[in-house]
Amino acid sequence: MELELTYSCNYACNYCYNPLNREFRSELNSDTWCNVIDEAIELGVEHLSFTGGEPLLKADKLFKCLEHLRAKDQRIATRLVTNGSLISDELTKRLKQLGLDIVQYSLHFDRINRALSRLGALDVDRTISEYIEKVNTLKGHGLYVVGVVVLSSNYLNFVSKAIDEVLKRSEIDLMWVEQVFLAGHAMKNSGMIPSQERIARIISELKEIKEHYPSRLLIREHAYIQGVVPLTRGTPKEAVVTPVGDVYRFHSTIGRPEHFCGNVTRQGLKGAWLTLIRAYSRGV
Ligand code: SF4
Repeated sequence: MELELTYSCNYACNYCYNPLNREFRSELNSDTWCNVIDEAIELGVEHLSFTGGEPLLKADKLFKCLEHLRAKDQRIATRLVTNGSLISDELTKRLKQLGLDIVQYSLHFDRINRALSRLGALDVDRTISEYIEKVNTLKGHGLYVVGVVVLSSNYLNFVSKAIDEVLKRSEIDLMWVEQVFLAGHAMKNSGMIPSQERIARIISELKEIKEHYPSRLLIREHAYIQGVVPLTRGTPKEAVVTPVGDVYRFHSTIGRPEHFCGNVTRQGLKGAWLTLIRAYSRGV
């Protein structure tokens, strides 16, 4: 289950799935998130992902959630999904002490593209080196680290090189590429979606790299088909709770009324969960 702790983010990727109209003032506070976690434990959820936006911008909220969870449950696997910009040695140490298991660290060229576009240059090597340094910080504290790169036309030519370098120069546990989810901001920027031919070329390059790192590079060819919003069936335990407490089945269904299951402040997570279960049983 994904808990989106905040809409706030210090990047502005043009493939961002964050909604265009965000209600920052209605974001749930720490106490409400702790209630959500209590209900998730009762429902038997097996993993909790803390996402955003950028959850580390609300580090106090994240710390409180982890502390609350671990005081009651040691079994649930926890994952932080982050752009990595705020990763430091001290912060990583604290996250590990609080019982975090996995960090999903996205390699975002897009914000670099924007920042440097006026200079007409993209410092790929520096971006990759900074990323590797932070991966090694996370690994140094014993966290399991997965790296993700979104397949955007803006920097597609650098994707294979970046993945090869990261696998070679760090102890990252697993890497994969992700297609653009046509939701939120990304809906306005569909021009950055690469053609199937370009994606096929990247996949073939990645297959060559995978020969050297068979267990550390995941290639999910079926997941890179463009033109459709992925709506895999998943399970009810893969629900998403948005920063304002709305419950949906997946990220790609957020904002679609037919997939809205309820709000944790009105129905509680359990109430929304019932709607979710009914939707699954109808095969919706
Ligand atoms: S994709 Fe992630 S890092 Fe980029 S703007 Fe959206 S939330 Fe921030």
